[in-house]
Amino acid sequence: MAEVVESDALRTLHRVFGYDAFRGEQEAIIEHVVAGGDAVVLMPTGGGKSLCYQIPALVRPGTGVVVSPLIALMQDQVDALRALGVRAGFMNSTQDFDERRVVEAELLAGELDVLYLAPERLRLDTTLNLLSRAEISVFAIDEAHCVAQWGHDFRPDYLALSVLGERWPDVPRIALTATATDATHREITQRLAMQDAKHFVASFDRPNIQYRIVPKSDPKKQLLTFLKEEHDGDAGIVYCLSRRSVEQIAEFLSAHGVETVPYHAGLDAGTRARNQARFLREEGLVVVATIAFGMGIDKPDVRFVAHLDLPKSVEGYYQETGRAGRDGLPSTAWMAYGLQDVVQQRKLIQSGEGDEAFRRRSAAHLDAMLALCETVQCRRAQLLRYFGQDPTDASCGNCDTCLTPPETWDGTIAAQKVLSTVVRLKRERGQKFGTGQIVDILLGRKTAKVIQFDHDQLSVFGIGEELGEPEWRGVIRQLLAQDLLAVEGEYGTLVLTEASAAVLGRQRDVPLRKEPKKPAGSARSTPR
Ligand code: ADP
Ligand code: ZN
Repeated sequence: MAEVVESDALRTLHRVFGYDAFRGEQEAIIEHVVAGGDAVVLMPTGGGKSLCYQIPALVRPGTGVVVSPLIALMQDQVDALRALGVRAGFMNSTQDFDERRVVEAELLAGELDVLYLAPERLRLDTTLNLLSRAEISVFAIDEAHCVAQWGHDFRPDYLALSVLGERWPDVPRIALTATATDATHREITQRLAMQDAKHFVASFDRPNIQYRIVPKSDPKKQLLTFLKEEHDGDAGIVYCLSRRSVEQIAEFLSAHGVETVPYHAGLDAGTRARNQARFLREEGLVVVATIAFGMGIDKPDVRFVAHLDLPKSVEGYYQETGRAGRDGLPSTAWMAYGLQDVVQQRKLIQSGEGDEAFRRRSAAHLDAMLALCETVQCRRAQLLRYFGQDPTDASCGNCDTCLTPPETWDGTIAAQKVLSTVVRLKRERGQKFGTGQIVDILLGRKTAKVIQFDHDQLSVFGIGEELGEPEWRGVIRQLLAQDLLAVEGEYGTLVLTEASAAVLGRQRDVPLRKEPKKPAGSARSTPR
């Protein structure tokens, strides 16, 4: 009987990493790179990207150079490889001169299998010259979406990486990312000059993650209910937009008996490292964090990711929620989202830095995110379509809109009422009125501010008594999400958009999602 010959790649997988078999497209990717080909790899978080460059680095002669922006994780990555007997090292700004000299000497002596490198080092001639004197087996460009200016995580240092193909035309390059929109994919290929590369695009579906987005009413309480009812004692991440809310939420959860640590860029490096290490090591710890937390974190049993503030883009949402359930077990991506999120983000874009093109891009990112929040169809299907992939089913059965389909209603008249009120307030020159004033007028509330500006004399005063305050806030939120209303200036004044006219002129209908009767922490229809 013919003996089955194991490939070098498979042998390395068994002997070094102790795994039985390749996953998904790993084998095809690795064989292609080992044979000297370039590869662009789009694979979701947890898909197993690391092996795609680590094995070629081991199988091909020379040192595999891994470019990564995750300086804080390099030491851990190197330690993990060394524990497997792989000769690994790193070079970044955290090292002193002597430490760097040691790594340089190892590289030149051919004693390194893998070298992690911060992208800013590749701008330096000294680094390029050093690499020229070494034997390089493969260049891996991790988190490759950082080269995309269109994306949400742009790092200028990545633009310099096109030099690799020019200076080392014979060394294969592999670019990897968990971000997968067409635009980002194209930009990676173009900016890294990888036109001849083979492209590997894995499925971005994460079937074990249940996606849920609930209307925000009392976020702290909703979060606590969600945690207690569904994830008591589980490890998870709670994302907030600001450092202040991170601190507040962490304190609140701790006070209610949830083991919690905070994480944000305002904490000193020691505290951050300690909190991150505790999260990785301990079971059932909850990290309350800004998005500064998480890139490259490999903890398989994160059971939930909760968002208390709206992410700026679908890419961000997908990447952050993707940190749940890497082990394949059921996990939840839960988000509370409300009117103030939309107002705040629109305001941030308007008053933020960057040129007009940047603002337009940011607004497009936000619109896609809002569409995901407001959809009445399967959220998974919408996510996959956003990433240019065809969902297998129109409804997945494991997201809130599939589990409890939201009702819709004809909101045309309600929309007209809101827009008419906005039009009338616009005439009060110099005065700024936010959503609260609109709602008070619609509901016919004679508040001090209503009386002060004679708003009880407006023809629209009290025309909205058929709905309650949460419903009106829901209508305004959805109008903002659909670009039928816009936000202006630092006070978040509501103004009409070009599209508003068609609603006021009865040329179009406005279907809306019905707000749930009671603020729901859970999507389950049966009480538990
Ligand atoms: P990514 O970088 O794509 O987020 P990783 O490379 O960190 O993913 O891999 C995720 C997890 O899956 C890691 O714990 C890794 O050890 C494991 N893994 C990867 N490939 C395999 C495989 N072929 N067999 C078993 N486990 C694997
Ligand atoms: Zn679904």
